[in-house]
Amino acid sequence: MRWILPLLISFSTLNAYEFALTPKRVTPEVTCFFGEPAAMDKNNNGNMVNTCYIDTKKSYVVIDSGSSYLYADAAYKAMQKIKPLPVELVINTHVHDDHWLGNGFFAQKGVMVLGSDDFIHNASIDSPSRIQTHISPEAYAMTIPTLPAETISSDRTLKIGEQELQLHLMARKAHSDKDLVVFLPKSKTLFAGDLVFNDRVPSLRDGDINGWIDALDDLKTLNAMTIIGGHGFRTDNKAADMTYHYLTDMRTQVRAAIAAGVGIDETIHKVQMPSYQDLKMYDTLHRGNVDAAYRMLEWE
Ligand SMILES: [Zn+2]
Repeated sequence: MRWILPLLISFSTLNAYEFALTPKRVTPEVTCFFGEPAAMDKNNNGNMVNTCYIDTKKSYVVIDSGSSYLYADAAYKAMQKIKPLPVELVINTHVHDDHWLGNGFFAQKGVMVLGSDDFIHNASIDSPSRIQTHISPEAYAMTIPTLPAETISSDRTLKIGEQELQLHLMARKAHSDKDLVVFLPKSKTLFAGDLVFNDRVPSLRDGDINGWIDALDDLKTLNAMTIIGGHGFRTDNKAADMTYHYLTDMRTQVRAAIAAGVGIDETIHKVQMPSYQDLKMYDTLHRGNVDAAYRMLEWE
């Protein structure tokens, strides 16, 4: 009988998709998993987003749970190998599903998941999710879309273990309707969610160019030493610069086009911003971003 259990386990793991997630230590208390700067597809299977673990000494706090159950499971296992600590809290930065479809894994463990009240209005647990339609069924296995159990509508400061966590909600629509950032004042570490992209073109599809630039201006007052975005690898104190310049350059050019009476199609054709052309996802996102910016800015 003793051979039955190992046999069953090896059969069940044979079918399970395994994410190759590599933990990277960003600061002594923060370890992150950096996803590919790419759209979600069957190659990366949703490993195209950044998620982080904060070591509070008594527990972990997780910033974004990732794109699926098995992604969250793989990250959790990698962290337990580094230091076995329970996860006490998961914080979701915003409603885009690559950032929170791993919630079900933590909810199943009884871990509290927290997000902004935008989850009440703008998050969908309908099937199939955007992630589900783009990644392989094996990688999506066991994922149950699970919204945060607790939502907040104003800033909050939490003391967990030896960490103080400041949760700030952006004043207005920026990358999404309501973006939440987490700041650790002791080490001046900022988890900026998708207000900060690197190594790829940001996505303005769901956002507001003015609100996003304002949010990045507000975040500058925190004087963060380490800035971790929702996508991309850069984490120094200049990590928000690429997104900021991309958006401000775009706004200047689109405003000028509108003022000169140039129509939307010609503006999309003209505002090519060649210095960003070599960035990943330029071909798939840039034109749509100019289109979205034009539609917002023409009402000013
Ligand atoms: Zn997003």
